[in-house]
Amino acid sequence: MAEKFDFTNYFKEYPDENGFFGPYGGAYIEPELKAAMDEITQAYFTICKSSKFIAELREIRKNFQGRPTPITYCENLSRSIGDVQIYVKREDLNHSGAHKLNHCMGEVLLAKYMGKKKVIAETGAGQHGVALATAAAHFGLECDIYMGAVDIKKQAPNVARMKIMGANVIEVTDGLQTLKEAVDAAFAAYTREYKDCIYCIGSVVGPHPFPMMVRDFQSVVGFEAHDQFLEMTGELPDAVVACVGGGSNAAGFFSGFLTDPVKIYGVEPLGRGTNLGDHAASLTYGEEGVMHGFNSVMLKDENGEPAPVYSCASGLDYPSSGPEHAFWKSIDRVQYDVIDDDAAIDAFYALSKNEGIIPAVESSHAVAYAMKLAREQKHGSILVNLSGRGDKDMDYVIDTFGLR
Ligand SMILES: *Cc1c(COP(=O)(O)O)cnc(C)c1O
Repeated sequence: MAEKFDFTNYFKEYPDENGFFGPYGGAYIEPELKAAMDEITQAYFTICKSSKFIAELREIRKNFQGRPTPITYCENLSRSIGDVQIYVKREDLNHSGAHKLNHCMGEVLLAKYMGKKKVIAETGAGQHGVALATAAAHFGLECDIYMGAVDIKKQAPNVARMKIMGANVIEVTDGLQTLKEAVDAAFAAYTREYKDCIYCIGSVVGPHPFPMMVRDFQSVVGFEAHDQFLEMTGELPDAVVACVGGGSNAAGFFSGFLTDPVKIYGVEPLGRGTNLGDHAASLTYGEEGVMHGFNSVMLKDENGEPAPVYSCASGLDYPSSGPEHAFWKSIDRVQYDVIDDDAAIDAFYALSKNEGIIPAVESSHAVAYAMKLAREQKHGSILVNLSGRGDKDMDYVIDTFGLR
């Protein structure tokens, strides 16, 4: 239980020096890549303590990203349900419209301090690619984004954004021509070019040090929210809620509340239902296993390979989640639960109509869960991390689910 686990030195002790959160995490990769990851770990531990790096990151957060982002009290939405007060932390107001820029700015600044010329990544729906292209443009580094040919056709606006900001979008035509092939192509490129570049992972996943580094860069969201909420209301929220795909927005947000008497909920996408292939709820329905270089819980097919996954939110359809989430679940600090497509779309419209805030469909899962808690609990306060804005989803929602 949460009471028994001692969080006093949590951020010093987790992950351990090999990148483990309890049994989860690590770096299960070829020796050559391991050497590259060790170089990044070393550099990170040195650079992130330097006052120059810290000052530069602070300045960028304030004057480029627009941090701190505010907290908004959703009075109309709360009243429409009952007596529970729902608040949202506005990562949708972060420059480029989502929380992803928090870790991309950190990763690319690190690359610059390491003397690298280029950053590399894969992208599926294009959100990570756009955030990384934004950061690379700001710091004047080259940026290679690997993307499946099928995804390039589907995500024309994001491809245009990346190209306008000067990124090279490299079309991957192997296999099914989607995210999995893009990951393979990007890793192959990194293995060839690691001396000149770093691979920027898009969530708290992948080999050590990425789950730790991405959490650290995202933790600004949780620490800001903790102090802002106290200042606004004189107390802490009773519960905090965030959606979990790979788990970066949730990990950063939860970091601010781990040691407090606050209930923490991570929300996974149930998509169309509980059958394998219809959802992406890896913490809820998955089992322990290694994929993409780390040990965590994952959804497996009958051959033990990563299973196909689905969610209306393309940012949430990943067959695993970060190792730290698997750990928080194992020690009972965070409760993980699910929201299906339909409830997420209801919440998308509820927040839009009641508050004039159009949330990303990913974030709508967290809003839906807060609404569910509010119906059940009758009193108290809930703070939701609104990970991104929904402009990118408007056409898709209307075409697929209709105007509600
Ligand atoms: C990518 C994305 C997510 C999911 O990523 P996490 O690493 O789980 O945070 C959630 N919300 C938005 C708006 C996204 O773009």
